[in-house]
Order: sequence, then structure tokens, then C-alpha cells
Amino acid sequence: MSSTAILFCPFCRECFEGLTHCPDHDLALVSFEALPKTKEETSPLGEHDVLPATDLRFGRGVAALGAITVLVGFLLPLGYLVGTEIIEITPYWIAAARRPSMWGVPIVALFVLVILVQRRTIARMRGARIVIVLLSIAILISEAIAVWGLYVAAAHQPFGTEPMHVQLASGTFVIAAGGILVALGGVLFGKRKVEATLPHGAGPDEEGPGIRTDDKHEPAKKKRDQSNASKR
Ligand SMILES: [Zn+2]
Repeated sequence: MSSTAILFCPFCRECFEGLTHCPDHDLALVSFEALPKTKEETSPLGEHDVLPATDLRFGRGVAALGAITVLVGFLLPLGYLVGTEIIEITPYWIAAARRPSMWGVPIVALFVLVILVQRRTIARMRGARIVIVLLSIAILISEAIAVWGLYVAAAHQPFGTEPMHVQLASGTFVIAAGGILVALGGVLFGKRKVEATLPHGAGPDEEGPGIRTDDKHEPAKKKRDQSNASKR
């Protein structure tokens, strides 16, 4: 496995698979995390710097994954009413046939995704933190009501006179997991990590040894780079 790992040259930052040294620079390849940071990566993110909508940091990825998980769970069976026959109940069916308020679950999940697209600065993300947590609670409460409704339905023998019992199914667990992920994403929304890498890039004295090595090798390697380029 380690022989096929993708590693990076700390000088040219190119990636190689199955090699331990950069063929152009003879430097030992390092993992992506160990790459010396570029200026943009080490410059601190301002409170009002707008991130791309696809940025998965600051709880965004967790919240997005949670919302998508909830949407998937909406189409999965919430549970089965088991009697002489087995009746599958999906949240979608509950919304379409029994209780339109169940549409709230996918609507809230979509709303979470909209917030993720709209709130793209640290300051604005932090401002929506409580909203996302509340939305996750709304998802979990709606789900709990729907599951409870299954047990009520089974007790009232809605599909005949024979007693039925409830067997919970994937949708129950998938929506619960999604709701919890949204809650977690909400708690982390706009939260900066303890910026352990910042002083590293900022203070020249604390720069990683990898960067020093680069500087030493730079002139020699540059020459080789040029000779390689002219060969091409
Ligand atoms: Zn290289």
C-alpha cells in the first residue's frame, strides 16, 4: 500500500505515485500534509473573506453531508408494519399520503444546503450556527414524530384487524445520523481550528525543516530543471 501512495515533491510540489524521490529534484517525497505551505495557505483567513461554496472546512462539509444524508433517508423505508403482510412505510409516503408536514424534513435539509451556499465568510457562518442547530433539531423531532406515528398506526391496525408490529428500517437510522451530522456541522459552523500551522508560516524561526532544505537545494535543482526543460 505504501508503495502506491501518492507523495509530493517539497520543491516542485508535483505528485508522484509509487516513488520515494522526485525524479527531477532528487528530494525525498513527502505526504500532502507535510508539504511546505504556500503563502496563500499560511496567510490567515479574514473574518469577511468569502470562501468558495465548495469549501468543506469550518463545519461546512459535515453539515452538507448531514443534509444530503437526510435527503437520502427520506426515500428509504422508515420502518415496516408487520402483520400477515408487511407494509413498507417511507417518509416520502407519509408526506405524500398522510401528513404533509413531513415534507418539512427534506425542505429543512435543502434549507441547510442553501445556508451553506449563502453563508461563506467566517463571520456570517458563525451567525448562522444556532439556526443550523435548530434546523437539525427540527429534523430529528419530525423524524421522532413519524416513527412514533408508525407505532400508533400499528396499534390501531389500520390495514385490517390483525395485530401488527413495527420493525424499524434503514431510513430511521439514516435520517437520525444525518440530523446529528447537521447538528455537529452547526456547532462547528464558522469555527476556526486551533491554528497550529499559523505561527509556523508566520515566524521565520519556526519554519519547518522542509522549507530550509528547499532553499539550500533551490539553485542546484533549478539548473537541473532547466536542463530537463531544454531536453524536452
Ligand atoms: Zn520535484
